[in-house]
Amino acid sequence: METKNWIGGEWITPQGDSAVVKNPSAVHEEVGIVRFSAADHIEEAVRAARAALGTWARLTGAARGEHLYRMAAVLERHADELAKLASREMGKPIAEMRGEVTRGVNLLRYYAAEGVRAIGSVIPSAEASVLQYSKRVPLGVVGVITPWNFPVAIPIWKIAPALICGNTVIWKPAEIASLTATRMAEIFAEAGLPAGVLNLVIGRGGVIGSAMVEEADLQAISFTGSTATGTSIAAACARRNIKYQTEMGGKNAAVVLRDADLDSIVPMVVSGAFRSAGQKCTATSRIIVEKAVLQPFRQRLQAAVAALKVAPALDPAAYLGPVASADQYEKVGAYVALARSEAKVVAQAAVAAADEGYYIAPLVVEGVDAHHPLAQEEIFGPLAVILEAEDFDHAVALCNQTVYGLSASVFTSDLGKAHRFLDEAEVGMVRVNQETAGVEYQAPFGGMKMSSSHTREQGQAALDFYSAVKTCAVKYTL
Ligand code: NAD
Repeated sequence: METKNWIGGEWITPQGDSAVVKNPSAVHEEVGIVRFSAADHIEEAVRAARAALGTWARLTGAARGEHLYRMAAVLERHADELAKLASREMGKPIAEMRGEVTRGVNLLRYYAAEGVRAIGSVIPSAEASVLQYSKRVPLGVVGVITPWNFPVAIPIWKIAPALICGNTVIWKPAEIASLTATRMAEIFAEAGLPAGVLNLVIGRGGVIGSAMVEEADLQAISFTGSTATGTSIAAACARRNIKYQTEMGGKNAAVVLRDADLDSIVPMVVSGAFRSAGQKCTATSRIIVEKAVLQPFRQRLQAAVAALKVAPALDPAAYLGPVASADQYEKVGAYVALARSEAKVVAQAAVAAADEGYYIAPLVVEGVDAHHPLAQEEIFGPLAVILEAEDFDHAVALCNQTVYGLSASVFTSDLGKAHRFLDEAEVGMVRVNQETAGVEYQAPFGGMKMSSSHTREQGQAALDFYSAVKTCAVKYTL
């Protein structure tokens, strides 16, 4: 398979350089070829999206909703094949990948239904014979820049609300999720989405991404990815006064209090840290444990981590697969080396046939202080650090001692402490007796501090981003 651009309903093969995609689970296996676009493909895509805008925006919400329902139906038909392609391209275990495609189908249906939801409000005028009301209007052409770690769900949770609000879209996926993106565009073409409503441009962040951000005639950009890229995108959009949304990195904590039911919570802590090989923005990267239960918690964690099955992504029994790419392998590997030299190993799993792919053995360490890079930097791999807390207040202080503010969990059976944590954790998504990952699609998703531009995705919140509010006043005579 090779990547292609989908612009104005036409399939176009970029003539720039290309790269062979190797399966991260078995690096000798070629999955396909990514062909990178030159910046002028963005101009073409903007022309196509603008040409399609008027007709799409004038459709009723119900009619746009019908298109989204068809996209959901065709995606569901191809779910298994798409999940397998994504697993082979970026290494997420097939069971998780199937769940991700299902989330994509559900998101399309959720936003399809938004086409007929009552929106806006009537605001009584101070003048006689004036009808004053507000309503949502589309922004125009919206740019969507996505990461590789949720190659299906993240694009859909941006594209679906953008489309239902009446915008047309230009989508640039991550370099290492471009085969999956091409197949998704084929699926949406099969669903009969009109030409130019969604345009896919495959390319490098520094070329296509920056052309979108710096020059393209777009009315908004929604980005998910690293904090370094996101903050530079935010600055560029602010300069151009384009609406923007940046969902970025995390350093999420699972806080284990002395009254937690250790037997039931350890699997949740492990899942938060190691599903998707720790490559979720909401993955648990710090485990903050009250001193009183550190020893029994450690013992249970050791057994649970040692039992994890690290296997090729297409193995249905894989708990985690490889990390996604050679870059990830190198970057996470450097943190593992740091952990092995400067911290103490608490728990680890074994990896068979590590030379076949980018496998990194799950690892939990302790013995570094809260300022250490292992406790401060986003690792984005299967490595978590334990920090010991004296008591509840200390645990909350440690949880908040980071520039990030995406997600946090507390494990406790004390309702009072749970509520204090819900109030005091400086994060956008805070959970009690649940892992840090797994926020549902119908709820707002996003972070505080350096994790987000403080807007929210998914749920009803996404509609606020992808539309502008217009205030209308009509004077009439009776
Ligand atoms: P990344 O920032 O390297 O890339 C993300 C996207 O931005 C890619 O499509 C990339 O090509 C593009 N890009 C890169 N440079 C660009 C530039 N100068 N201008 C415009 N676009 C550019 O991130 P990644 O490695 O793909 O993803 C991992 C990161 O994403 C992690 O930090 C993770 O925490 C974060 N993430 C956040 C969320 C969230 O909702 N908060 C969700 C998933 C992932």
